Amino acid sequence: MTSDATPLASHIARLIEETGPIPLSQYMALALGHAEHGYYMTRDPLGMRGDFITAPEVSQMFGELIGLCLADAWMAQGAPAPFALAELGPGRGTLMADALRAIRAVSGMVDAVEIHFVETSPVLREAQKKRVPQATWHDSVETLPARPLFLIANEFFDALPIVQYQRTERGWCERYIGLSEGRLAPVLAPIPLVNDKSFPAAMRAAPIGAIAEIAPASAAIAETISSRIVAHGGAALVIDYGHTRSAPGETLQALRGHEYADPFDAPGEADLTAHVDFEALARAVRAGGAAAYGPAEQGAFLRALGIEARAATLCNQATEIQARNIETSLQRLTASGEMGSLFKVLGIAPRGAQAPAGFV
Ligand code: SAH
Repeated sequence: MTSDATPLASHIARLIEETGPIPLSQYMALALGHAEHGYYMTRDPLGMRGDFITAPEVSQMFGELIGLCLADAWMAQGAPAPFALAELGPGRGTLMADALRAIRAVSGMVDAVEIHFVETSPVLREAQKKRVPQATWHDSVETLPARPLFLIANEFFDALPIVQYQRTERGWCERYIGLSEGRLAPVLAPIPLVNDKSFPAAMRAAPIGAIAEIAPASAAIAETISSRIVAHGGAALVIDYGHTRSAPGETLQALRGHEYADPFDAPGEADLTAHVDFEALARAVRAGGAAAYGPAEQGAFLRALGIEARAATLCNQATEIQARNIETSLQRLTASGEMGSLFKVLGIAPRGAQAPAGFV
C-alpha cells in the first residue's frame, strides 16, 4: 500500500493479501459500513460542507409532499391505527420532520403514528434523534413491527452493495477487488458464471466487455418491505437516481467534496453509490406480492403532488430573498437538467389498493 492510503484501504489490502481478492459487494459494504472507518459510520456527509446534498436538504417542500402522499394512502386504506411510518436511511431526519409537520393537519394521523428509522450510522442516528426524538431505531428492515407500514426511502438504495459482472469470451466473470502495483483495483474472477439465466434479458444480450450490475441486497429489502405491506397494509415510496429499464453499463461512482473521485482510491473517505435499476426493484416488489407503480420522474411526481402551489404559498409569506431561494429549490427538485428526471420514484402498495398519489 502507498503511504497516503486511508486506514480502511490498508485494512482491505491486508485482507486481500491474506485471502485473495474480495467481491465488489464486500468492498462497498466495508467502504460505507465498516464499524470503525466506514464512510457513513464516521461522519454526516450531507450538506454544503459535506460530500453531497439531498432533496430533503434542498427544501422543506420535499418532505412535506412525501408526508401528504403517504397520508393520502393511509386514509385510502381506512386510516389504520396504530401504524408505522418508517424511513430507510433517514440522513439528518429532515424529511421525516417535514413530513410530520405536514401530516399534523390530517385528523387522527399523528395520534396513530409510530416512527421507525432503519439506520446503521451512529453519527446520523444522533442527528436524527435531535429532529425526531420519538423514533425507534432499527439496524435492518427485518425488525420493523408487524403493523400497517407506510415507508419512504430517499437515496437509500443507491448506497447498498452491488455485484458486477463483465462479459468476456469465456462468459460472465464477476469483478473482484484486488491489488495492482500496491493499489486497490478491480480484477476479474478466472471462472465465469455457470449461466446468466437470472440476468435481465437486456443484459444477457450485451457485447463482450460490457458490465452488468446486479443489486441482490436491494432486491431482498424491496421484497421484504413489499411482503410486509401485503400482509399488514401500507404503501412505500422509493426515490433515487437510476434508470427505468435494466441495461448493461457501469454506474458505480465515488463522490468526495461534491467532486467525482476514483471509487478505489480512498475507501471510507468518499461516498460510494450505484444507480438504482428500477426495473429490477419493481420485479422484487412483485416477487413480494405487491403492486409497483412508476417509476415516475421526480419532477413529474412532485408537480402531480402540487409542489408548484406549495411553492407559491410559501413565496407569499416570504421576503424577496427567501422567495428567490424557494424558486431556486423548486427548480433544483423538478427541472430535468437538475434532479427532476435523473431521480425517479417507485410506488409500492398492496394489489387492489389505491395507487399512491403522484403517479399520473
Ligand atoms: N435519506 C437521507 C440520507 C441519504 S444518505 C436524505 O435524503 O437526506 C444514505 C442514508 O442511508 C444515510 O442515513 C446512511 O447512514 C444510511 N445507510 C446507508 N447504508 C445503510 C444500510 N445498509 N442500512 C441502514 N442505513 C444505511
